Amino acid sequence: MTFSSLGLSAPILKAIAEQGYDTPSPIQAEAIPVVLVGDDVMAAAQTGTGKTAGFTLPILQKLINGPKVKANHIRVLILTPTRELAAQVAASVETYSKHLSISSTVVFGGVKINPQMIKLRRGVDVLVATPGRLLDLYNQNAVKFNTVEVLVLDEADRMLDMGFMPDIRRILALLPKKRQNLMFSATFSGPIRTLAKSIVHQAVEISVAPPNATAATVKQWVCPVDKKRKPALLAKLIRANDWGQVLVFTRTKHGANRLTRDLESQGIIATAIHGNKSQGARTRALAEFKQGEVQVLVATDIAARGLDIHQLPHVVNFDLPNVAADYVHRIGRTGRAGADGEAVSLVCADEFAELVEIERLTQTLLTRETFAGFEPVHELPESRLDMRPPRKKKPNNSRKTQGERANSASKNGPRKASSKRAGNNAGNSSAKSSAKPKSKTGANHSERDSETKKKRPARRRKSFNGYGQSAGSGTANK
Ligand code: AMP
Repeated sequence: MTFSSLGLSAPILKAIAEQGYDTPSPIQAEAIPVVLVGDDVMAAAQTGTGKTAGFTLPILQKLINGPKVKANHIRVLILTPTRELAAQVAASVETYSKHLSISSTVVFGGVKINPQMIKLRRGVDVLVATPGRLLDLYNQNAVKFNTVEVLVLDEADRMLDMGFMPDIRRILALLPKKRQNLMFSATFSGPIRTLAKSIVHQAVEISVAPPNATAATVKQWVCPVDKKRKPALLAKLIRANDWGQVLVFTRTKHGANRLTRDLESQGIIATAIHGNKSQGARTRALAEFKQGEVQVLVATDIAARGLDIHQLPHVVNFDLPNVAADYVHRIGRTGRAGADGEAVSLVCADEFAELVEIERLTQTLLTRETFAGFEPVHELPESRLDMRPPRKKKPNNSRKTQGERANSASKNGPRKASSKRAGNNAGNSSAKSSAKPKSKTGANHSERDSETKKKRPARRRKSFNGYGQSAGSGTANK
């Protein structure tokens, strides 16, 4: 299949060709025709599968012949859970529309609202937004929703996890009833389906990426080590292997700061990205890392989803995540779009239970390799592959926001959306947020733009994962 056979016009095909894409990824091949005919879509696809182009390209195609947008109005609204993802999706929209006269912009919290208001003044065709800031702009009359033709809800599962439901419901109530709805989510758990029923109608279900699959192009391995020797081992691995660009995950913000200081003291240029950093610092850190000015980006799970760093070669799990599914998201930052990648986890004896859960979830026994001079004193027990499906964890309702509790208590019952194609579903997700003070939109922005702990067990499925690479087995060899 080629992009031209999908019915996209010349300026869009030119932009795609300039990106070097020659074949549509599976999500693109499936979604583009459906979006073009105007159907609602409910797609199970993670970042890394090409989903952004999957919805952006047909949307742009549909916008070409539409009416000119009026002042402060928008025609397409794309909602994303994090600022980083919003910026990334907006950059893609700009890239794919560069030979069209279609305007786009992005708005998110943590930065000044005035420049965003100015950009919206003349109206924009495509607006990418995080929910809290969008509502702030709406409340200040900077954006009007009555000409919205298409709504995209990106990473809907993440929206739920981060407690965005009250904001989403408020936004939905403000949109025109007649519109096309496209919903993307890594999983289609019960809560996501409930949300979907109040958004999409007669949706075509598309499923291309199993939530627990790791790309076969990612070489995964475990380096057993004692906890206190992890920083020294990481520095050693970076130097010995000459790793030029490494994304390192820690479990906590303090851990990320500590490790950054540690690496810097050893002459390695590192910077941290997490929810306690200002938006300016986060944007700067990411830009410097992408440009190669910073060798090591130390991140909490805020960066585990959504970030698309071109050909990121190395991901290190300095700590294993609490939730096994986050392992898949973390290592999904490498090996994207069929490229090779390497993911190493520094695992101490205390993390054995987490390692077992990850191996159970991915149905892969990760290869272990100790680094000479760093053999652990506290031995990491051998693991055996547990063939049972991953443990289900119940959503912890006690941690819901007031708004979410009100929502779940309301009689706002779901309508049944029928599907034309069968979609897989797997996984579970729980809505959570912290007890931090809320903004005037009812949103706890500082926390929801930052990392949240979540429990997301999921079932194993076999499927394909984007660009022809097989997924599900994730062979680990080093
Ligand atoms: P996404 O899943 O939308 O975050 O996209 C993941 C990466 O795949 C991005 O770097 C895109 O530029 C790239 N990409 C999207 N579509 C294609 C394609 N058809 N061929 C090759 N790369 C693609």
